Amino acid sequence: MLTEQDSQWREMPWQRALDDASPAAARALEKSLGGCDLCFDEGLILARAAGKDLLAMLRVADELRRRAAGEQVTYVVNRNLNFTNVCIVGCAFCGFSRGARAEDAYFHSIEQLVAKCAEAVSCGATEVCIQGGLPRDLDGSFYASLLRAIKAALPHLHLHAFSPMEIIYGIEKTGLPLLEYLRSLKEAGLGSMPGTAAEILDDEVRQHISPNKLKVRQWVEVIRTAHQLGIPTTSTMMYGHMEQPEHWVRHLLLLREIQRETGGFTEFVPLGFIHSQTRLYRAGRARPGSPFSEHLLVHALSRILLNGHVPNIQVSWVKLGFADALACLDAGANDFGGTLMEESISKSAGANFGESVSPGELRALIRTIGRIPAERTTTYKIRREFPHPGTDELLPLERMATQPANSLAAGLAEN
Ligand code: SF4
Repeated sequence: MLTEQDSQWREMPWQRALDDASPAAARALEKSLGGCDLCFDEGLILARAAGKDLLAMLRVADELRRRAAGEQVTYVVNRNLNFTNVCIVGCAFCGFSRGARAEDAYFHSIEQLVAKCAEAVSCGATEVCIQGGLPRDLDGSFYASLLRAIKAALPHLHLHAFSPMEIIYGIEKTGLPLLEYLRSLKEAGLGSMPGTAAEILDDEVRQHISPNKLKVRQWVEVIRTAHQLGIPTTSTMMYGHMEQPEHWVRHLLLLREIQRETGGFTEFVPLGFIHSQTRLYRAGRARPGSPFSEHLLVHALSRILLNGHVPNIQVSWVKLGFADALACLDAGANDFGGTLMEESISKSAGANFGESVSPGELRALIRTIGRIPAERTTTYKIRREFPHPGTDELLPLERMATQPANSLAAGLAEN
């Protein structure tokens, strides 16, 4: 079994790993190296891979990453704004939401949020990522008013905002049709949208983990309509709870189908389930997140199944911690996400990897795996590549879970 301490797998040439794999796994991997799309059955063989098949899969995913994205690891300087934690939806996997009367319930005003954006810009941010809970009494005009107020003060800041669930809520509150509503948000300054609220795109699983949330059909409709209007989105998947490998495969193939039609996904972000403060886990209905080897597997599977369609696979350092995030960058991923500056959602669910990382720290982390850091925009235009270390590049050693990243390059692999 692969563990955080064992890292020899990172050095093995993909051709050698492929030679050791079973015929079925090797066939699927060779097909993907040849640029062909894998079908559900082939995806499932990989999703269930263990031992030498898993090792071959990780190495092939890394090779596909190299071909698609080269040696750069990109990141964006951004700030997360979780403007309220008040929410009526009640997802069982959520540790973030509060009732309106809870002692620690909050709702930041538009003025406060504009001030936070200005602070972010003064720290070099090019993007703010805005998402929040769904309060019962939310004013229907809030989302558009917020975008307009930020754009009026900071016209060059990219506004990456509102999940498909929030869009559905906006429609409910305003009574506008989807197309018109999204167009009004775009006119107000919306630059792109997070493809969150996807969790697992399977209505049966959703019925258990978030019965009041939007259905698969609605998620797909919001995303397709956004893409149609020229609003790019990310795509995500939450794994490590009560889903099975076949759900990962179906989810990824659905994203691939949408991407074929629209080309609107900028990236895919696997989001490991953070269990400890959630009802789902406490009620004994979910796994306690994924072991290390499953994090690697899901990132590699994403690279392989989306190969040729979605060029960027992002690690979520907030969910994984720095050490595991770096390992996933050697298993198919090529993007480190954002600096965030503040992040409440994962922390509330029990993650303890911090709320913020400086660009210098991110670059220092990226160099520990021998890759080249590059700052990007939200839509993956390179702003600046950093081939040489700068004086501000310090490893956040005290926050590097399990062990310092540079010691990950040594050690023995089992599989
Ligand atoms: S995940 Fe989002 S929609 Fe669900 S309860 Fe939490 S804040 Fe509300």
